[in-house]
Amino acid sequence: MEPDRSIMRETTRDFQTYYSPMLHGEVRLDTNTNVLGSNPAAAEYLRTHTWDLNGYPDTYSRDLRAALGELYGVDPDCIIAGNGSDEMIDVIFKTFTNWGDNSVVPVPSYSLYDYFVRMNGGRAIPVDLTEDYQLDVDSMVKQENAKVTIVPSPNNPTGNCFRTKDLEELISRFDGIVVMDEAYTEYTGTDGFIKRATEFDNLVVTRTFSKVYAMAALRVGYMVANRKLTDMMMSVKIPYSLNAISEGAAVAALKDQDFVRRSVQMVTEQRPKLEAGLRKLGFEPFPSDSNFILARSPIDHTALVEGLKKKGVLIRDFGSKRRTENCVRPTVGTEELNRLLLEKTAEVIDECR
Ligand SMILES: *Cc1c(COP(=O)(O)O)cnc(C)c1O
Repeated sequence: MEPDRSIMRETTRDFQTYYSPMLHGEVRLDTNTNVLGSNPAAAEYLRTHTWDLNGYPDTYSRDLRAALGELYGVDPDCIIAGNGSDEMIDVIFKTFTNWGDNSVVPVPSYSLYDYFVRMNGGRAIPVDLTEDYQLDVDSMVKQENAKVTIVPSPNNPTGNCFRTKDLEELISRFDGIVVMDEAYTEYTGTDGFIKRATEFDNLVVTRTFSKVYAMAALRVGYMVANRKLTDMMMSVKIPYSLNAISEGAAVAALKDQDFVRRSVQMVTEQRPKLEAGLRKLGFEPFPSDSNFILARSPIDHTALVEGLKKKGVLIRDFGSKRRTENCVRPTVGTEELNRLLLEKTAEVIDECR
């Protein structure tokens, strides 16, 4: 029986629960987390520390913000930390959009943007990326009454970075807050916009410990903006949303930048090999600056993803979405994981033909 959802808030009535596959020990190349496994410094911290479970965490995560401020050369008062960058994105819309306000969301990009815009009562205005998955800045800036726009760079699911000059143009021409989601920026070998975020009137840069830092389980994210904007957002964020255990682990993880370098290095080495392997099997891979590759499948996307799942490998399916028709998105694995993925993919393709 269909539940009667009329008692729900109108703007969220058609919401569905998020991606949540049933797991049976599969190899996970579907979430873009770090295939080298748990962050070693964070794991060591968790093994060797105890906490006063009766005490609240620091209300606004001062230790972590101080450590991040040092790493990036940014005033800690211009940094907010919380429960994953997803919470940061939620706080941004909570702070800057009124009921019914428009926010501009590129297509294709991260599926949760639309969810956070609408959850906060706003309307998500989709603007297509260009043919080569770059920003259509002219279209984005001409949307009327738009309060916020949010762009991931590198983009998920397409994997590419947007051009710096387009991002700068977007910041200067968009009449509202520009959010740059830098979840994968460590993989680009550049600083992205994080060190410069406070120089702009209208820029918020978000980052996460879920990807290259290999601690998605602990849910830690943060954002940087000028002091005026962070003061506003700090007053809206739920106090204590980042728990003390995760905060401590994140501070420990920041001290081991060598792990980050090794992780990036591994991806830089393996990505072209995986791309070549996919091409050989008939895929059309798109250029990636991240730890994942979007690729158009030579066989039906559902048959591929389901077939791989039966053989113990999960990848993410984007094949039913506009602009990524018949595409899948595997995370770049280690040499061994990529070999496994390519072997199993070849088997599925053979069985389908
Ligand atoms: C994975 C990902 C995030 C991370 O979200 P957390 O809440 O920090 O785990 C944010 N943005 C994009 C585009 C992502 O792919």
